[in-house]
Amino acid sequence: MTGRFSMAGKVAMVTGAASGLGLAIAEVLAEAGAHVALADIDREGLDRAVGAIAAAGGRAEPVQLDVSDRGAIRQATDDLVARRGRLDAMVANAGVTAGPGYLTELGQINAVDDGQWDRVLQINLTGVFATIQAAAKHMKAQKSGRIIAVASVAGLKSEVMCGYAYTATKSAVVNLVRQSAMELAAYDVMVNGIAPGPFRTNIAGGRIRQPDVAQQFASMVPLGRIADPDEIKGLALLLASPASSFMTGVTIPIDGGIMAR
Ligand code: NAD
Repeated sequence: MTGRFSMAGKVAMVTGAASGLGLAIAEVLAEAGAHVALADIDREGLDRAVGAIAAAGGRAEPVQLDVSDRGAIRQATDDLVARRGRLDAMVANAGVTAGPGYLTELGQINAVDDGQWDRVLQINLTGVFATIQAAAKHMKAQKSGRIIAVASVAGLKSEVMCGYAYTATKSAVVNLVRQSAMELAAYDVMVNGIAPGPFRTNIAGGRIRQPDVAQQFASMVPLGRIADPDEIKGLALLLASPASSFMTGVTIPIDGGIMAR
């Protein structure tokens, strides 16, 4: 990768990088020349992911952590900067499902479980905030950097297939992007969001891989199909690289046309 899309000499961290969209994003940043720290709660998945990136000629390291542990994400970010001297891109991607949407009885408002609500907020909202905060500390000091938060089309509109805590946290992430982008603009730090439609990953135990579920999601997409994780790579690299030097505060749908419908 050359020119405005090059990440040569840059240092990046991606949370939730052992699987799905986070892994695809870590792969493309490494392919573009960055040294990438892959942060995830899943140790075995991390080792596989880092091994695969190294085998493809990329530079990657594993960091096992739970993003809902604010101290852990702060410490891991400080440690990465201490080791590599800088932080150019942070991708707050780790996230979990909140179960089915209200079409299913289990997903209806009176069935929402307090424990699950709290856990989803801890990971999808507090974890994303702590990740942005940890990166901002270093990027403000170095007066440069790119922060990307992975939201969802379910944060831009109501979504029958997703649980309440999921849609609420994803919507909150969209405004965290705007709010932090405004503060950090003075430091030449850009903050943007990605709002994916349905992608074939391991979220919700890989439920989206079941043919009937995949078909249900595909029927909502104007392009008529769900996406492969590799299809996130172009947008992620755009937002992490010098190619997006005049973009900040936006969350971009990558959804086969869902938001245009
Ligand atoms: P995935 O399950 O394949 O990957 C998520 C990764 O995050 C896993 O490796 C998991 O171990 C890790 N993780 C989960 N909880 C964690 C925690 N507390 N701390 C650290 N790591 C943790 O799912 P995915 O679909 O790739 O999800 C990535 C992001 O994309 C999520 O934020 C998700 O909400 C968002 N998203 C996905 C879709 C989709 O259709 N797949 C659509 C819209 C948004």
